[in-house]
Amino acid sequence: TRVLLTGGSGFIATHILETLLARGHSVVTTVRSEQKAQAILTAHPELSKNRLDCVVVTDMARDNAFDEVVVSEPPFQAVIHTASPYHFNAKDAKELLDPAIIGTTGILKSVQKHAPTVKRVVVTSSFAAINNVYAKAKGKVYSEADWCPITVDQANDNPANAYRASKTFAERAAWDFIEKEKPHFDLSVINPPLVLGPIAHNLASLSALNTSNERIRDLITGAAKNGCPPTGNYLYVDVRDLALAHVLAIEKAEAGGMRFFTVSSHFSNKEIAQIIDQEFPEFRSRLPTGEALVPGDYPADGVYGFDSSRAREILGVKFRPLKESIVDAVNSLLAVEPEI
Ligand code: NDP
Repeated sequence: TRVLLTGGSGFIATHILETLLARGHSVVTTVRSEQKAQAILTAHPELSKNRLDCVVVTDMARDNAFDEVVVSEPPFQAVIHTASPYHFNAKDAKELLDPAIIGTTGILKSVQKHAPTVKRVVVTSSFAAINNVYAKAKGKVYSEADWCPITVDQANDNPANAYRASKTFAERAAWDFIEKEKPHFDLSVINPPLVLGPIAHNLASLSALNTSNERIRDLITGAAKNGCPPTGNYLYVDVRDLALAHVLAIEKAEAGGMRFFTVSSHFSNKEIAQIIDQEFPEFRSRLPTGEALVPGDYPADGVYGFDSSRAREILGVKFRPLKESIVDAVNSLLAVEPEI
């Protein structure tokens, strides 16, 4: 299959790109700079332009940003849209909302207008679009049936809410588009919780690390020694399993019209610290202990459950255990900065 992948320089998208190529698909990926395009092409010198190419889209919140990109020779059969800002530094919610929402609706519109051969669009949403952070956690079992109830006003309360709102509103806009427009393609949405695991993208230093792996970095550098960072949510998925889920969502006809809650298991930052303690004794003295571990534990009043049976049964993804994700993640960080 010929696939358009947006945001190919990201943590998750790099694994999606590798999985697509390994499974024989041909890929054009969008990035925000010529430098990022070159880094991706240089990492794959053996591939012809027909199997892998990069296109620069500097601002996806611009009208018709993807109009030319969705046209290719040979034409695309599928699109995977991952690009979306994921950080907690927004000064104004608009910084996240515009690229998330306009980026998502923009690519759907461009495919509708200019890419008649596309049959499936897969969008990377999030557990953030499912989780109701205002509800009692104990006894709740989250699944694809749940939606984050965040409002436009709450989006401006704090940077975490801005991110939650960006993912919730972007995903809603995608489903609304399908319902209203009834385009020639269908939609699958992937809703990952926190994504952990080895980094494979080009990174100059660990200061540029993606948001979800920052907790692992901060544990091995000692930055979390005096206080284990608290956890915003208690579910995780390995980046490799998540990448495969995205690719299976374009390969399996029956995945159309569905959300997939791709969860491996519960996790806490305290458990991550314990795995590092066991597997990397050289970092033991940098890890939080005793009272400093407490904020990284599960909440005393309990944690919600999850149901990821749809992803396992329809997509056929198997989820690996936390220990493997953490060990491989730490080794990948050491490869970037051996003298960490
Ligand atoms: P990264 O920050 O590594 O990747 C984000 C990607 O989006 C990058 O390709 C980035 O481009 C691109 N991007 C960011 N802002 C913009 C913008 N304003 N315009 C165009 N492109 C932009 O994070 P992840 O790989 O973790 O995130 C990928 C997707 O997965 C996002 O949709 C995120 O919301 C979602 N997700 C991530 C989770 C996680 O725990 N990691 C959990 C749930 C969902 P560039 O490389 O140029 O910065």
